[in-house]
Amino acid sequence: MDIAALKHDLDGLKIDDHPAIVQQKSRDFYWYSPVLKQQLDHVTGDLIVTPKTEEEVIRVLAACHRHGVPVTPRGSGTGNYGQAMPLSGGVVLNLAEMNAVKAIAPGRVVTGPGAVLAEIDRATRAHSGQELRMSPSTYNTASIGGFVAGGSGGVGSIRWGGLRDLGNVIRLRTVTMEAEPRVMELTGEDVLKVMHAYGTNGIITEVEMPLTAAYDWIDVIVGFDDFMDAAGFGDDLAVQDGILAKLITPIAAPIPYDYFKRHQKFFRRDQSIVVLMIAPHAMDAFLAFTARSKGEIVFRADKEADLKGLPPAYELTWNHTTLRAIRVDPTITYLQARYPSPDHLAHVKAMVDRFGDEVPSHLEFIRFDGAIGVAGLPLVRFTTAERLDEIIRIHEDNGCWIFNPHRYTLEEGGMKQTDAVQLAFKRETDPQGLLNPGKMIAWENPDYDYRSGKSFLFKGLRKAG
Ligand code: FAD
Repeated sequence: MDIAALKHDLDGLKIDDHPAIVQQKSRDFYWYSPVLKQQLDHVTGDLIVTPKTEEEVIRVLAACHRHGVPVTPRGSGTGNYGQAMPLSGGVVLNLAEMNAVKAIAPGRVVTGPGAVLAEIDRATRAHSGQELRMSPSTYNTASIGGFVAGGSGGVGSIRWGGLRDLGNVIRLRTVTMEAEPRVMELTGEDVLKVMHAYGTNGIITEVEMPLTAAYDWIDVIVGFDDFMDAAGFGDDLAVQDGILAKLITPIAAPIPYDYFKRHQKFFRRDQSIVVLMIAPHAMDAFLAFTARSKGEIVFRADKEADLKGLPPAYELTWNHTTLRAIRVDPTITYLQARYPSPDHLAHVKAMVDRFGDEVPSHLEFIRFDGAIGVAGLPLVRFTTAERLDEIIRIHEDNGCWIFNPHRYTLEEGGMKQTDAVQLAFKRETDPQGLLNPGKMIAWENPDYDYRSGKSFLFKGLRKAG
């Protein structure tokens, strides 16, 4: 890998090779996992290149192809599984400055890959009262390219499902890793090839996303004496078609009191909660619905005199729940689960009864394939890697699906299935395997059997032959 020759070829582009900056930009939130922390702590690239245009991306990819240098794309580096970490060194392609919001129309927005989600919404709200359908809880920092290439869903998924659902990404423009990089326009089924592929089969240079009506969502927290009552409330609310909610998140005691320090005064330590975002016009109906339950409203942003210092409700949910817990107790980690419907709450209860406070529960209600489902990001009071594996196995033995956040490969992470179509696409877009090497086992290991019987979030593109 001749980095000096590469640098020479990239003359005039924005390049950084200061070791401290290179190391910082070679990291994401991999340290959420004690397993990945140990495996990936040493990982660093050789050079950060920050293109400003698609032409510059093409120039970088052509030069890296010529010199056989790996390229790992990076948005904001908030991924949790080492997705954006350059396992084989080389160039970290920082797309943060390709952040223009280029066009807004009814129901759609076109942006550069580095546009931060909250910035996109600011522009679309001001333009025409619209917002993105869904965002990770890292809304204020994550890039749209990184979300599409590394995320799965989040706030808004209770209405709109996940990124994997057809229609939730309209179009992706990508650049291939070849001697003469080509630009591809992907729509329909084809966007799924690049989604949640960790940038292993193309660099996204433009994104077109669907929009929905924006509201001044009201943050609400409802307290419960019993966690399963909180979960049941979330489940019942999720099917109230007349009440518009953007977020329904049950979280078990003592997580709220122990880890949500800025909100602590609103909770008792033994109180489980449901965190919600409710549309203003749905508030009266929501209050009537809540009055029928065992819940007690402990926080309403529209009635709170002083919101200073309080994070938005969504920054208590999704993987922010884990972040807040780790900040207080660094030994904590987490899992990603799905509790299969229709008896999802029975699965949740079985795990709550089995593990108690070793695995405090955190649920996210989502709408998948037209039905309400429940995902989990339970905390784990980590002791050893062996016990963590055992906890995962017990979940799986009980019919729960685990998308293992303690693995950095696509296949072992369990969200994205590699199949024959996916492999053929990679051969076409990155024949030398220089894009984010080490993340797709089926590419690196010809003997790997990718025809797994597992359930994947992003399913195979076609049944593998
Ligand atoms: P990065 O971490 O920079 O990149 C993610 C992946 O995409 C990497 O593999 C990278 O190589 C690739 N990539 C980046 N840009 C491009 C590009 N232009 N072309 C091709 N490949 C590219 N995720 C969720 O889905 N839902 C959540 O609710 C959620 N909550 C989170 C909460 C916290 C506190 C944290 C730390 C993480 C959370 N995440 C969540 C994970 C992550 O924040 C999101 O997926 C986020 O959208 C990633 O965006 P990013 O710009 O930081 O991507």
